[in-house]
Amino acid sequence: MYNEKSWAEDKGILTGLLALMLFVGLALAAAVVYLLIRQQRLFVRLAAVLLLVLTVAAVLVMTAALVSILILNSGHGGAAVSGKMVTGLLNAVLTPVMVFGRFVGLKRDRIQRAYANINNRVVYAGKPHFEPEDVLLLLPHCMQYSGCRHRITGDIYNCAECGRCKVADIVKLGRKTGVKIKMVPGGTLARKIIGEIRPKAVVAVACENDLCSGIRDTRKLPVIGVLNQRPHGPCRDTSVDVAEVKRAIEFFTNRRY
Ligand code: SF4
Repeated sequence: MYNEKSWAEDKGILTGLLALMLFVGLALAAAVVYLLIRQQRLFVRLAAVLLLVLTVAAVLVMTAALVSILILNSGHGGAAVSGKMVTGLLNAVLTPVMVFGRFVGLKRDRIQRAYANINNRVVYAGKPHFEPEDVLLLLPHCMQYSGCRHRITGDIYNCAECGRCKVADIVKLGRKTGVKIKMVPGGTLARKIIGEIRPKAVVAVACENDLCSGIRDTRKLPVIGVLNQRPHGPCRDTSVDVAEVKRAIEFFTNRRY
């Protein structure tokens, strides 16, 4: 269900960044304590105390995130519990991790991919059993062939299944599985559709950025993210591994199609 090599890389990226951030946080805390000891001016001391409190809080959250990933990796403590801890804590630290990652030369989308993959591992560790109609498959509009004249955003079954893009395969998969399918132009509409349909589980196809924000926004729902393929660059004639989408649907519905 989940590629172990990918898990090792994703875990390595996030734990490495968190460890570095912890080191910086502890060094900052030590510098602030030194300032507190040396400085007598009240204003400076008050500012230093405030900074120290914020730094210690950040260090504690980062430590908890780091430890929770290691617990999940060890397989102890129950994957469901440690998984919830990992996603909750990663949601809290992801933005500073991405900012810090840029300083050490890591691309934002690589960190977002690691986050999405770790989320998938957590979801795949559960044992869901949803009815197909409770599962929503969300697709990005850029998956539709740019020269196609069929209007499929309202109803994907308006696709003529000519085979110029992967929508034809997804339509066949939709008929076979019975899951709900929506094609959306962006994250805002995706959130609106989730609010209207109220699915119990979501399979989302998107780029790193949209996957990451979507998973964070729908944190109460189990979401399996499937990264899209971009042979023509971003946001145009994108594709997807339909077998991966099928695997995610089979997992949520606990059926084979
Ligand atoms: S497969 Fe469907 S959506 Fe894709 S180009 Fe053909 S008709 Fe359009």
